[in-house]
This record gives sequence, C-alpha cells and structure tokens, in this order.
Amino acid sequence: MSQSITQTEANDKTLLTYSALNTFRNCPRKYKNRYLDNLRPRERAEALSFGSVIHTAIELWYRSTDAESRLRDVLAYIDDAFENRVVDANLMVQWHLATAMIRGYAERYATEEFEVIEVEKEFVGEIRNPDTGRQSQTFRIAGKVDGIVRCHDGLYLLEHKTASNVDASYLDKLWTDTQIALYCHYLREQGYPIVGVIYNVLLKSRLKQGKGETQEEYEVRHAELAAKNKSGKSTAKRQLPETDEEFQSRLMDWYSRPEAFHREFIYLSEDRLAMLQEEVWEITQQYLDARRRGKWLLNTSNCFSYQRPCEYLAYCQSGFNANVADNLYEIAPPHEELASVDSDSQPF
Ligand code: SF4
Repeated sequence: MSQSITQTEANDKTLLTYSALNTFRNCPRKYKNRYLDNLRPRERAEALSFGSVIHTAIELWYRSTDAESRLRDVLAYIDDAFENRVVDANLMVQWHLATAMIRGYAERYATEEFEVIEVEKEFVGEIRNPDTGRQSQTFRIAGKVDGIVRCHDGLYLLEHKTASNVDASYLDKLWTDTQIALYCHYLREQGYPIVGVIYNVLLKSRLKQGKGETQEEYEVRHAELAAKNKSGKSTAKRQLPETDEEFQSRLMDWYSRPEAFHREFIYLSEDRLAMLQEEVWEITQQYLDARRRGKWLLNTSNCFSYQRPCEYLAYCQSGFNANVADNLYEIAPPHEELASVDSDSQPF
C-alpha cells in the first residue's frame, strides 16, 4: 500500500521535493517565484499536459488487476482527459496520439518481464550532513516514483517518459537524471534494495491526420496531371480527409513497430549516490543562507534553458510588477507532484 506523506509524519521539519531543490539550484529567483510566492503560470505547456495524461494512463494500466477491463478503463480515462476534442482540433490531435500510444503499449507489453511491486510510491527521507552523518534539523526530502518492479536480478525503479526521439544523446541524458538516482537512495533506506532504473520510454509518433484537398487544390492538381497526359485528361480523384478510424489504423501500424517503445536499464554506482547526498546537503545550506539574507539571485543563464523561455521571463523582465503577476500567474500551492503534501507542507 502506498505511503501517505503528511506534515506530522515529517516531524514538523520542512519537506522539500527534488523539484524545489533543483529549481533553487538553477535559479534562486525562480524558486522564490514558484515556492515562496506560489505563482504558477495560467497557461501550462501543452507538452506537459500530454505527458501528464500519458503518465496517469500508464499508472492506471499498472494499478489495474483486471486484465479484461484495464485497456478499456485506460482508454476511457483518455477519452475524458480530451473530452472537448470534438470542438478543439488540438485536443483531437493529442487524443489520437494518446489513444494509439496506449493501445500499442497494451499490445507490446501484454506480458511483462517484471513483477510490479509498487505504483506511484511516495516516500519521505532524511537529509544528512555527509561529514557527520547527522540529520538536518530543518529539512526532510519527499518524493514519488512511478513504480518499483522486480526483475530476475533485483528491484528497479520504473520511470515513464514520453519522447519524440530516442537517440544516443537522449540516452546519455538519462545518466544525468539526478532526481531518480537520489530517489533510489531514499527508497533503499526504506527497505527497497533498488539496483537500477528502467526508463520506460513511449515514443511520440509524428504522423498527422490527412486533411484531404479543397476543391480548388484538387482542380489545380487535376489540371497539372491532365497537362502531362497526351490525352489532355486525368482520372485523378479528389483526396478526401482521412477519417478518425483510418488515422487510428495508420497510427496503430506505427505503434506496432519495435522502435515505438524503448526500455533502457541503468545501474547506479554507490559513488554516485554518495555524491548526490553531498550535493543535496550543500544546496540546503545555500538555501538557508539565501533565506537568512533575503537574497534570491536571478540566474539569467537559465532563462532560456530547454529551448524555451522560462515561464517567469515576463515577470522578471517587468521588474516583478504586481500587475504582470496578476495577469499571467495564478496562486497555486507548490509540490503539485505530491498531492498529499500540497495542503500541509511549507516550501523549503
Ligand atoms: S526568467 Fe530567468 S531570472 Fe527569472 S526566474 Fe526564470 S530563470 Fe530566473
């Protein structure tokens, strides 16, 4: 059964998540915006919402114990998640992709090479001074992993990802996934002897639904073909839009290919886990210093990471104008990834 995290269980120490830690490390001002001032952009990135729907769909897939109904239930969830697709073409695109992806996943992994031990496992762990081994008096760390599974050689974290492409650089980046390595450490402390991570990658097909041609486009094409024929005629027919069924069928062909899904096994060294402990400790010390002095530096080299502007760019550019904050952001509690922490925890 999954453990619930509450402030009481955290012994009144302040809980922090990896996401909060990493935000502070990348840009202290961004940390202040999100975790102290509780500002969340009103418009959330489309990629995030698609990714979160797939994440929940896979969670439902592994939670279900009824082999007969589980695909039906997961597809029903996707239907609900994109319920306005009939009036929103963008949602229809995402619905098609999500539906085919999950149907393909169900076929590919109808039988698994592992046993599922935990789904969406939450944990709370101690942050320790690496020199003395003593617990932090101020903080504990909280997190949640997608799953824990048992393979023939031990327990692994199962981490779901969607990606447009899995190439050498994508696989290299998995090594830099500090969050998951850190979580391994804390789950080991909780009695799960994790030996590695399985990255469960679901590829996003780039196929597009055929739009067909307008009468005008057809007439132009027809005239061009006719001009090339000695007879001066063409039998070409107008291309009609691809129906939903035809497009799903084409997508399903794509998802039956081996490269549509990828599983990458990564093993974790003890050295790396020890190094991460030191890093976490150092970041908390830097945080305490920033809080004591009330200084939240702007790390402008981080404003355009991940090939897109930071969601707080307009706010920072405005010099933290209150009207900009009102217009572009809503007040939302931090630690959204840990539903049970939301209402009780304080930011670190
Ligand atoms: S826009 Fe730049 S300085 Fe402002 S919060 Fe984002 S990363 Fe930090």
